[in-house]
Amino acid sequence: MSLERLEKALKGIQSNYSFANEHGLVKAGAKAHGVNLSEGGVFDSLEMTSEGKGAYNARLVKQDEDLEELALGLQKAESLTVICEDYRQSAQVANELGINNDDGKDAILATAGGPTQPMEGDNLERHNSLVEFIIAFHEVNSTALIRLIAHDGVCGGHASYIGTAKKAREAKKEEDLEEAVKAEDTVMIAHVRILAIQLVENKVDKEILKGGLAKVSEENKYQGIKWFDLFTDN
Ligand SMILES: [Zn+2]
Repeated sequence: MSLERLEKALKGIQSNYSFANEHGLVKAGAKAHGVNLSEGGVFDSLEMTSEGKGAYNARLVKQDEDLEELALGLQKAESLTVICEDYRQSAQVANELGINNDDGKDAILATAGGPTQPMEGDNLERHNSLVEFIIAFHEVNSTALIRLIAHDGVCGGHASYIGTAKKAREAKKEEDLEEAVKAEDTVMIAHVRILAIQLVENKVDKEILKGGLAKVSEENKYQGIKWFDLFTDN
């Protein structure tokens, strides 16, 4: 099968997504949280400190990357994981999944918002290029598992994020917190489900798609991935 569409999609990702250091906010966030910014391509491992802290790990398509070679690598990948670059969960998700290595087996697209690219305004192009990339990837690699993993605890990449749990926590309103956390999970999961439905409508096989929510809402600590069904309410 032709890799042309995948190469074109990679170009789209390259031009519509930027590395972490181009986002003033990520840089400031990294400084405020005392973590590193770490950049690389989709087959590079994600950075984790010995204290178990992650970096803001951006794993995109590098400007100097040979797209033809990258497309060939993706054709042979065992999985593609789409996550947010957020320091609270990027490397931790990769470690939990056992894919945090650079042996070229598993691809990781880590970017602000991950699979929850806002679907409106200036960000629509980012969302659309993600959709096109996943479709093109699946066309040349129909057996690789595709994981779409969002996170809770306010995702900076998601412009319309409601942030109700954060507000309840700040106001020390324990009685509201449980409801708020649930509401935030619902928003993030619903967003990933919309993406999954778009993919299936474009001939991506339901069976290879997996949806997850990385929990980080408690004191910014990683608590693991909660898997959910992309096509039912479970
Ligand atoms: Zn995020």
